[in-house]
Amino acid sequence: MSNNTETESRKLLGRLREAMAGDDAGQARLDKITALIADSMKTEVCSIYLFRDEETLELCATEGLNRESVHQTRMRVGEGLVGRVARRGVVINTADAPNARGFRYMPETGEERYSSFLGIPIQRLGEMLGVLVVQSKDSRDYSADAIYALEVVAMVIAEMTELGAFVGEGAALSPLHKQSVLLKGGVAQEGATEGHIWLHEPRVVVTNPFAEDPDRERERLQEAVDELRVGVDKMLAQSQNGDAEQLQVLEAYRMFANSKSWMRRMEEDIARGLSAEAAVEKEQSLARSRMAQSQDNYLRERLADLDDLSNRLLRILTGQGSETGAEMPDDPVLVARNIGPAELLDYGRKLKGIILSEGSVGSHAAIVARALAIPLLVHVGKITTEALNGDHVLVDGDQGVVHLRPDDTVISAFRDKIAMQAQAKERYTSIREKPAITVDGEQLQLMMNAGLMADLPSLETSGAEGVGLFRTELQFLVRNQMPKRGELVASYARVLAAAKGKEVIFRTLDIGSDKVLPYMTPADEPNPALGWRAIRVGLDKPGVMRMQLQALIRAAEGRPLSIMFPFIAQFEEYRQARSEVDKTLDRERKLGHVLPKTLKVGAMLETPSLGFAPLKFFEEVDFLSIGGNDLKQFFFAADRENERVRSRYDTLNISFLSFIERVVERCEISGTPLSFCGEDAGRPVEAVCLAAMGIRRLSMRPASIGPVKSLMMRVNLTDLRKIVADARHRGEQSVRPAVMDYLREI
Ligand code: PEP
Ligand code: MG
Repeated sequence: MSNNTETESRKLLGRLREAMAGDDAGQARLDKITALIADSMKTEVCSIYLFRDEETLELCATEGLNRESVHQTRMRVGEGLVGRVARRGVVINTADAPNARGFRYMPETGEERYSSFLGIPIQRLGEMLGVLVVQSKDSRDYSADAIYALEVVAMVIAEMTELGAFVGEGAALSPLHKQSVLLKGGVAQEGATEGHIWLHEPRVVVTNPFAEDPDRERERLQEAVDELRVGVDKMLAQSQNGDAEQLQVLEAYRMFANSKSWMRRMEEDIARGLSAEAAVEKEQSLARSRMAQSQDNYLRERLADLDDLSNRLLRILTGQGSETGAEMPDDPVLVARNIGPAELLDYGRKLKGIILSEGSVGSHAAIVARALAIPLLVHVGKITTEALNGDHVLVDGDQGVVHLRPDDTVISAFRDKIAMQAQAKERYTSIREKPAITVDGEQLQLMMNAGLMADLPSLETSGAEGVGLFRTELQFLVRNQMPKRGELVASYARVLAAAKGKEVIFRTLDIGSDKVLPYMTPADEPNPALGWRAIRVGLDKPGVMRMQLQALIRAAEGRPLSIMFPFIAQFEEYRQARSEVDKTLDRERKLGHVLPKTLKVGAMLETPSLGFAPLKFFEEVDFLSIGGNDLKQFFFAADRENERVRSRYDTLNISFLSFIERVVERCEISGTPLSFCGEDAGRPVEAVCLAAMGIRRLSMRPASIGPVKSLMMRVNLTDLRKIVADARHRGEQSVRPAVMDYLREI
């Protein structure tokens, strides 16, 4: 890149800064920008197209095309050369536009006269905002320098758009982050809630994209990078004994922080007239668009590391997002790209709602959200770029809709909805003490899932008959070091005391897959969900499991005790686990501890293999509980964390229900008590179908007991069984349509 172009683009940015500094209204600013770019680039045409809505681009300003077409000419993403730039987020540079692939003639603009076309995406941190175009009559290929200069300009336009610089009289743009927006996503935990946004990762806003003094900016960048390097080195020194994955990430940070080419590119941007923070953000935007396009997991992870590092650098440069920054609102609705179960537990119950732009319904973070009864939406595409700290938000966790910065009519309709839900809750309270008996006289036992101390009051308020699944790992996940045996004894004793004689089924530590303890080195596995997890860890490294068994026996203090092992895939694993229990009992007896009055040792059926275990297994095990979340992912070979494949398969699929029916039959032969404790147990329609297949004990999150019981008391299981049998006979894939027809009639 020649020094000459560098000066040229600095001149261009200088003129741009002057244009922006005036107190013109939005449209006048845009007009000025197009005029001065056309002049600087010596092209006949310069136009700015901005998104009008998610799918449509609008010509917002032009120098050279027909003025009348401004705010009239629109195109869909992907349509014409401009639409293609917007869709793919890449530059299109052609000397012969009318014959280029995808060209669309727009007569109202008079653009047929122009041969060459250069379209540059206007984007900010991966969010596409519009397209900057220059066109000229002579057929020229724009040089790499010209493209680079316009990219810098496009970035500044993006920043100014973000800051609302083009909003105002006469401009077709409504202010970003000010208008109300409706966003859709998937429901991971139902419920309607109202609150104010709290960003998990604060968003840094660059308010000064231009800079007059490049030397000063280079210095600022250098100082910030030095501070960043020292910070990374410190983190590395502190985690030398830490886990391997974290070290790997930190090493990547160090590599980037010392990268000469990263630094050089940013210095070049500064030389062209950008401020230090704008230069960092330009690099970050580039990395984000590469991340969106890359298929390579490793590369994407490294680009995500660079993204994180850029955020740190921006925070150093701007001083934003530090502890002294925004204060969490009283009614926080958390917004994040993704979040792990431990981080979510850190926030705890103070959250009113959670909105993730990624995330998954089947993840353990979702399970934690359910345990805490916090409405959770996942896959809400643009939430992280649209929402700002403190924005008013309504989360409709029934319809999967987010109303960001809602207007008054939406707010009042939404509040009506919340009031109606409160009424339904009252209805559930009225049946709380009643048994769950179907119309044809079948009685169901409804239990609750728990894992945190805070869940236990629900035992009384929900009407649960006991705890069908106590996820002991949640208590391990919330800490930053391994709990001691004494602490476990105390906490299990508290659980049993709170249960006041109702049964609590303690599941031993279920870690691995997405449940990674902060203080244990995760195994580096290609497929963690199919890897070293749950009972496999428990049997191979029995130290923690033995400590847990001891703690459970001591906490029971002679009371009845129920223990369940997760993820048993074959008979032998159950036998080995059971022998650990027997050995622990022996040891405890010898140590003089009182043993539980009765002890039941069960297994979770979470892999199809166990359904086909020898009958002897069914006879030996004290009880079985179907972990439908895992079972379904293995039954359909569809990752429970991967929204794309997860939702292809319905729980009410005939094959899945037939498998459940087979397990029920085998348990009937052997007289083995059977329950179902996956999330589907808490979904009323799924729950009645499971009951129709013969399941008589369901364990679910406490908030589901009312709705499930209410429906259960209205259905006839004999009818439902026939509906399933008929659908099977007709060769249907899922019984859902037929069941829904039936439920609408009752
Ligand atoms: C299950 O897999 O259905 C289950 C209850 O266990 P978890 O969701 O904790 O894996
Ligand atoms: Mg499971």
